Amino acid sequence: MRCPVCDSRAKDITPSGYRGLSVRCIVDGDYDIDRQCHEALLSLDPSGRHTVLNAAILTVAPGSRPRITAATFVRCRLEIRSAHRTPPYADATKWPTRSLGEANDRNR
Ligand SMILES: [Zn+2]
Repeated sequence: MRCPVCDSRAKDITPSGYRGLSVRCIVDGDYDIDRQCHEALLSLDPSGRHTVLNAAILTVAPGSRPRITAATFVRCRLEIRSAHRTPPYADATKWPTRSLGEANDRNR
């Protein structure tokens, strides 16, 4: 199989009973992907996939495999957006441009 994160050669090491995918990648090491996150992960570009995997690695308990879960995506959302800002948001000085009052007006 191919690593869902980096597309390198990888091995499926999913233990029986885990409803997801466990991957052993020569680049990324071992990690788990919950089934409901698999498609969302593949829909990201390579940089976004690594952002998600890194977030899973940062919160893993010692001795456990990092696991990409829905919570990992929630935690990453802002980071992914800021890493992939497209113009005009690429310029950080233009973000955000509206004052709080204007934002409230828009929501009325
Ligand atoms: Zn990989």
